[in-house]
Amino acid sequence: MMRIGVFVCHCGLNIAGVVDVDKLTDEMKMYPGVSYATDYIYMCSDPGQKMLRKIIKERNLEGVVVAACSPTMHELTFRNTVAQAGLNPYLCEIANIREQCSWVHKDREAATEKAARNTKTIVEKLKLNHPLTPLVLPLTKKALVIGGGIAGIQASLDIADSGYEVLLLERNQSIGGHMAQLSETFPTLDCPQCIETPKMVQASQHPKIKILAYSELEDASGYLGNFKVRIRRKASFVDPDKCTGCGQCIEKCPVKVPSEFHALLGQRKAIYTLFPQAVPNKPVIDRENCLYFTKARCRACVKSCSVGAIAFDQKESFMEENVGAIIIATGYDLMDKARIGEYGYGQYEDVIDGLQIERLLAPTGPTQGEVRRPSDGKVPKEVVFVQCAGSRDPEHHYPYCSKVCCMYTIKQAMLYKHAVPDGQAYVFYMDTRCSGKGYEEFLQRGIEEDSVLYLRGRVSRIFKDGDALKVWGADTLTGRKIEISADMVVLATAMVSSEGAKELAEKLRLATDEYGFFSEAHPKLRPVESLTAGYFLAGASQAPKDIPEAVAQASAAASKVVALFSKDHLYHEPIAPTVDEEICRGCGQCVETCVYEAIELDPRRRIARINEVICEGCGACSVACPSGAVQQRNFTKRQIVEMVEVAAGT
Ligand code: SF4
Ligand code: SF4
Ligand code: SF4
Ligand code: SF4
Repeated sequence: MMRIGVFVCHCGLNIAGVVDVDKLTDEMKMYPGVSYATDYIYMCSDPGQKMLRKIIKERNLEGVVVAACSPTMHELTFRNTVAQAGLNPYLCEIANIREQCSWVHKDREAATEKAARNTKTIVEKLKLNHPLTPLVLPLTKKALVIGGGIAGIQASLDIADSGYEVLLLERNQSIGGHMAQLSETFPTLDCPQCIETPKMVQASQHPKIKILAYSELEDASGYLGNFKVRIRRKASFVDPDKCTGCGQCIEKCPVKVPSEFHALLGQRKAIYTLFPQAVPNKPVIDRENCLYFTKARCRACVKSCSVGAIAFDQKESFMEENVGAIIIATGYDLMDKARIGEYGYGQYEDVIDGLQIERLLAPTGPTQGEVRRPSDGKVPKEVVFVQCAGSRDPEHHYPYCSKVCCMYTIKQAMLYKHAVPDGQAYVFYMDTRCSGKGYEEFLQRGIEEDSVLYLRGRVSRIFKDGDALKVWGADTLTGRKIEISADMVVLATAMVSSEGAKELAEKLRLATDEYGFFSEAHPKLRPVESLTAGYFLAGASQAPKDIPEAVAQASAAASKVVALFSKDHLYHEPIAPTVDEEICRGCGQCVETCVYEAIELDPRRRIARINEVICEGCGACSVACPSGAVQQRNFTKRQIVEMVEVAAGT
């Protein structure tokens, strides 16, 4: 019989505050099959791990149960520890007596009894465990970064600077993302053109980075270290190899449509680049609006292009690449304004959102930085800013805080005051959340130096009154009702996950939260990894973030990729189930069940085959198999029955 040691962790008072750890340890000493049991205040600490190693050797232990926190927290820690003492790491198991016990119970006696049952259950499992050896896999040292905003650019540069190749995928005509649309950035008030454009150029000139603009991910298969991705290159109708980026075609194109880059407040042509500093700086033709495609006439671009780069017959194309890691940097969008009917968005031209005022304030914007209201081009003298429009509103919209609106609102109000010194800016707010470096000082500067007037309370209604917009609200500090006759209203609308993120998550089989932001593996310990190995998260794809945070997270994701690529090969958990060929009747239910597509039926023998490299060990197939042919390694049906019997006290 296996010589098992049980190690009970106090986790400070996290466990010991509720569970009687002495009693638990004494009880485990008496449990059949346990040859040694002890406790310690912090088992994962250096002294705790040293003690574990020492006792394994001294007592000649053959298996270890650590009764502590969730295995997602420290299973790897303890498996590494026992391996250092010469044990097979798969002969170490974790009994969860914190998240599943001390954190959710108050009654000391009952919690101690439950902790003992949890621990005994795991001892029973361990008794039937087998030593396992991780699979050794090859590794493709090339990364795919999806999304060319500031997070994607930063991640690409960091990986490329470490010597590895990067494919930077961007669905729009140019990289740059929303940051390129901004006027100035808080709290330093430097312009994105000064800080982002050089990074865009650096990425385009980097020998290790290949920018695939106007392209989208079609499909990805494979696993950590060995993905195969299929990329769709949209037809731009301009031959990038011939085009010099001279812009003659854009100048001559007679069609003008609202510009997405200017948040629909300015115009672009049917052949266009997103903005003059676009990277790559090669135009694309919008076939929905081009006269050649819609009315079979015009061809002004063809006539103006001296190098014959216009290619109306260009078709979309597909390319396949092998990559070892994928970073998701798909960014954010602002919430659909049509949903904020109470604030008159979509009804009144002069109710605009945060990105629209950025374009009005930007020197590169449709009004060259002069603040003019959209309806009649007049300079607005009274501007009301409304924070939390759609955020922190669980009843109607999103319960979460969009995190950046407090800061960008004060910035926009300050910049408005710089542009219109005799104007007045009002801000309706619930709280101001300015917790970054220099952020609170920036807010105070806006209030004191630029006389931005803050009114605490929600706006109840915005409606048209002649030429003006009447804003009704309440100042909850004074208890007064407030009515402002405004020339323009700016809504700090909620940040939401970017359009297409949901479909991308489905394609990649990645988990998202209920709002469509990609889920991280662990909020504290693995914040830049997704739940699926090989996928990493950067920027607002994971949650609302400001630029410094997005850049920091991008560098963190890149460092994970670089750490991965620094290895010669990879190890994969050897926990895939086995199929008993004598029992399998080829029904295919396991194939249907496996979301990782790790199982196929042998076409000749009609027997299920599991690709151990793709299998994540979720166990779904073993549950689905009606014949009982699939058995999870170290989680066999017999082990489960033994565990259930102990847990149920039978
Ligand atoms: Fe513009 Fe289309 Fe005419 Fe070219 S053919 S100039 S893209 S409208
Ligand atoms: Fe490119 Fe020709 Fe247009 Fe110049 S005129 S930007 S070379 S397509
Ligand atoms: Fe697929 Fe999960 Fe079965 Fe592995 S354990 S083959 S991932 S269903
Ligand atoms: Fe074989 Fe079971 Fe899969 Fe059916 S579900 S193919 S019996 S392993």
